Amino acid sequence: MSTTWTIIGATLPDGSTTDLHISNGVFVEEAPTGAERIDARGLRAQPGLVDLHTHLREPGGEEAETITTGTAAAARGGFTATFAMANTNPATDTPERAEQVRRLAAGASTEVVPIGSVTKGLAGEELSDIAGMNSRAGVTVFSDDGFSVPSAGLVRAAMEQLLPFDGVLAEHCQDQTLAGSSACCHEGPVSEELGHVGWPTIAESVVIARDVQIAQYLGARLHICHVSTAEGVEVLRWAKARGVRVTAEVMPHHLLLTVDELRTGDTTYRVNPPLRSPEDVEAVRQALAEGIIEIVATDHAPHRKQDKDKPFPEAKPGMVAIEHVLSVVIETMINQGRLSWSGLADRMSHRPAQIGRLAHQGRPVAVGEPANLVLVDPAARSLVDREQALSKGRNNPYHGRNLPDPVVATFWRGRQTFSR
Ligand SMILES: [Zn+2]
Repeated sequence: MSTTWTIIGATLPDGSTTDLHISNGVFVEEAPTGAERIDARGLRAQPGLVDLHTHLREPGGEEAETITTGTAAAARGGFTATFAMANTNPATDTPERAEQVRRLAAGASTEVVPIGSVTKGLAGEELSDIAGMNSRAGVTVFSDDGFSVPSAGLVRAAMEQLLPFDGVLAEHCQDQTLAGSSACCHEGPVSEELGHVGWPTIAESVVIARDVQIAQYLGARLHICHVSTAEGVEVLRWAKARGVRVTAEVMPHHLLLTVDELRTGDTTYRVNPPLRSPEDVEAVRQALAEGIIEIVATDHAPHRKQDKDKPFPEAKPGMVAIEHVLSVVIETMINQGRLSWSGLADRMSHRPAQIGRLAHQGRPVAVGEPANLVLVDPAARSLVDREQALSKGRNNPYHGRNLPDPVVATFWRGRQTFSR
């Protein structure tokens, strides 16, 4: 496959139009000899997307996804980097296991960055070797995603480990005493109607409130995973006004879908945190537009069919997202005039790379920079068909919906990792 490219007439995030030349993995000034030409007139040239929250399932969950299939799906979604969540089997909780994730990713279609667990085995009891995972395996993001770090004391102890290298704790905010493992539906009229155990908004916001206060006290960095509620946004707004070093992410499903989907009974819609009310959807869209929520991540969570073919409360929580996140953000934010293309580059490339301390990702599309690029057709639309996925996951909440179909091609370090 070609390693030199000339891309004609692409529109950059700032709206200007240019020809792009790629050689040796970087954007160069002059057209390289023998370059393969791509006519990109009418297409947007955006920096490759960076996902701070991906479940690649390997090791241990290869029936649901592998690093190969998950990153192929990511490249199709426009991504050039994915941060692999620690809740694999075994969990990524030692320097050796973090190194193993990097080794398994040798042939992947995106850069894969291991996230380390905060506690051993994500059990919420004893801290993992946080310093060792940083010094020996370069890990900068730590998360027990799937669970909240259960106590304020453990959050403090973890943040004290993170401070020397300015690492970040990425918190899954779900207070177990307010929303335990049987809670499966946003608490409100729909949970009452369907007889599901409610997952109240405050189970999210009280954990955010706890952690931002600890982060402020210590001067540590905190990142809030998958914000889904208006209350969560309010606490973030309060914390940011006080200078707390906190960042936050929203997922595509919380930007597009509401709790009403649960009336279908389809377990695809079982997800943590759950789909929320229309008011919550509006709050997270507004927060993303304002920058109270800095980034969009995916929480791409493929599951085996048998783990979803269960009564709703028992189905495994999570949905696939990585091939459709850009579709959803274009539909809910760009097409609504709430985010510009340069805003998109900020929210899905620059800021997630910055939070994860990935210096060579999320850079501008410009001469001398790494050639991490996604070519986007802003007008294309299609019906989503879950059987066409590159991911192994078929738990696709967008199946059958008419959505933007934007990704034309993806390049990671000058290598074409997806082409339609
Ligand atoms: Zn989570």
